[in-house]
Amino acid sequence: MDYPGNLYVIAAPSGAGKSSLVKALMELDSHLQLSISHTTRAPRGQEKNGREYFFVSPAEFDAMVQADAFVEWAHVHSQRYGTSKKAIEDRMAQGGDVILEIDFQGAVQIKDIFANAISIFILPPSWEELRSRLERRGEDAPDVIELRLKNAAVEVAQAHKFDFVIINELFDRALFDLKAIVHAQRLKYSAQRRARVETFQALNIP
Ligand code: 5GP
Repeated sequence: MDYPGNLYVIAAPSGAGKSSLVKALMELDSHLQLSISHTTRAPRGQEKNGREYFFVSPAEFDAMVQADAFVEWAHVHSQRYGTSKKAIEDRMAQGGDVILEIDFQGAVQIKDIFANAISIFILPPSWEELRSRLERRGEDAPDVIELRLKNAAVEVAQAHKFDFVIINELFDRALFDLKAIVHAQRLKYSAQRRARVETFQALNIP
């Protein structure tokens, strides 16, 4: 399927800094819209239904799977997460840019469906740094940190399936890289053709 706007898919192991990078990018770029996923996990801290996620019960999630309401969904950390068609359809109809912050399984599914989606994988600079970020974050018990590191080893082995890789060693550098990817995509012939119809017409480019 062709996506009429630019569809960016970002994945990373937990602790690599994905959410902070996406948040900073969204603050700088008002043309991007973040897709809000559905999840069966419970809200954490200040999270609000409809803002970070749509929090649903396993039965509600099942019903959505049955109704073919998801573009992709996956099991992540023993919960289920999915991108609903509704979350991206309106934006798609307007040809707007959408960003999906999802896990690598979902990213691979999106690439299969939308051939022109841009997939970006964010890596930590080393295992030592990833461990110390997870420890400094203070959100997880030691056994959960070990589990996240074990999962991260499986996840980073998938990086070769992505179009772009960003190594998040210095936050500002990684944000610069992310902005560069988003910007370069908008300069592609097909994207310019869509975004600058009048200019192309004035230049008699068919
Ligand atoms: P968390 O529970 O920490 O918010 O997210 C856990 C993981 O699930 C993260 O890697 C996050 O990107 C991923 N995730 C969030 N939404 C989706 C989704 O709609 N689909 C998939 N496949 N993964 C998602």
